[in-house]
Amino acid sequence: MSAGRYETVIGLEIHVQLLTSTKLFCACPAEFGGEPNSRICPVCLGLPGALPAVNREAVKMAVLLGTALGCDVRSRSVFARKNYFYPDCPRNYQISMFDKPLCENGVVELDSDDAPVRIRIERVHLEDDSGKLIHESDGGSLVDFNRCGVPLAEIVTMPDLRTPAEARMLVKQLRQLVRYLGICDGNLEEGSMRCDVNVSLRNPGETELGTKTEIKNLNSFKAIESGLEAEIVRQAALLDAGKEIEQVTSLWDSQHRESVVMRSKEKAHDYRYFREPDLEDLVLDEGLLKKVESLMPELPRERRGRFVDQYGLSDYDSVVLTSEKEIADYFEEVARLSGDPRSSSNWIMREVMGELNNTGKDIRSFGVSPEGLSELIKEIASGRISATAGGEVFGEMVRSDVEPGDAIASLGLEQVSGEDEISEMVGTVLEAAPDEVRRYREGERKLLGYFVGQVMKMSGGRANPSKVNEILKERLH
Ligand SMILES: [Zn+2]
Repeated sequence: MSAGRYETVIGLEIHVQLLTSTKLFCACPAEFGGEPNSRICPVCLGLPGALPAVNREAVKMAVLLGTALGCDVRSRSVFARKNYFYPDCPRNYQISMFDKPLCENGVVELDSDDAPVRIRIERVHLEDDSGKLIHESDGGSLVDFNRCGVPLAEIVTMPDLRTPAEARMLVKQLRQLVRYLGICDGNLEEGSMRCDVNVSLRNPGETELGTKTEIKNLNSFKAIESGLEAEIVRQAALLDAGKEIEQVTSLWDSQHRESVVMRSKEKAHDYRYFREPDLEDLVLDEGLLKKVESLMPELPRERRGRFVDQYGLSDYDSVVLTSEKEIADYFEEVARLSGDPRSSSNWIMREVMGELNNTGKDIRSFGVSPEGLSELIKEIASGRISATAGGEVFGEMVRSDVEPGDAIASLGLEQVSGEDEISEMVGTVLEAAPDEVRRYREGERKLLGYFVGQVMKMSGGRANPSKVNEILKERLH
């Protein structure tokens, strides 16, 4: 990517589909999918005479999000009609918020390795979703209105981002946040989080923004980054050639790695926003604000810091273990049950996450419970099995859904710690290698490793290594 001599200015709009059970203005289920047009009513279709009523659950979630983003929450916000004509919107207007949004003036700090980057959040507001068009191969089109009225929180950032990588990082962080808050599943591919980007270029030192273009519906982290990169190259080439940038809205075609222009020139007044006459001002009472306060969970950054302080983990381990709330919960449960946070962290970072990566599984459906893993850690700590055998036991627990004790027994991995048994093996090994014994006694101490290896081999890896060391040293003196 080369933007040449220009400075890049990027802003994001992210739609977050809220996990309420019903839609924003009616009691229809907000669930994804279903037989087309099976979850609709006169309100979500905007039929004449149907009156919307605001879903308090959605308001709570949006306020929770705004608060977590450090926004000011407006005690009185106003719904507005955003007028547009398109077959996916039977009312011909979307109910959104315009000049008096629910939350505004927030800030996010990017978890960047370099100097901290602050991204201002212009606003977080509520709006309802539109339906879905299905284009058939014979040229006909069908409309499914099930998605009409599903609650969305829209996060709008200020144009504070400077690179596609920062944009990707911010969306990743917001995804982590909405999942921690439990208000959205954060699934970009399925559209429960949708990202629009706008980008403009300017000469370094200029304060005024250049003409921006928008790319809509980028549905993966990769698409966000490559879509922006391609658009920056395109704009830079136009500016280099002395041409003007046209204000357009495009869709990103990830297969051909190019943006496809959807429409040109789009300004706020094209939507002819006006107050939604069927809804009163949205007034937040003390009760709701108190409720939101009590619902605020420990956020990723705080949890990360606590993992370092409380468990003595490294920064890196804390970042990985808090990447998802469920993984962090899993870790804390294993650490509590095993009483050994360091081993718990190691096991989860390597074995558990490795297994999840390999199988594409989710920690929630992972077969080894925190109880099972903590048992395994205790078996190793007590010396019943070696750390190496632990790996085998873990594999068996994943494959066959068994308790560690049963896996140890069925694999015959119980460690041999008995003095007599080990002494006997040590004796056999020393007898078979008189030369090495002589050389050891003459000062070639590194041969100890050889003897240990021989005993371990003889025991099938089951001899307790520290016992083996101890007895060998005794006998070699
Ligand atoms: Zn409805």
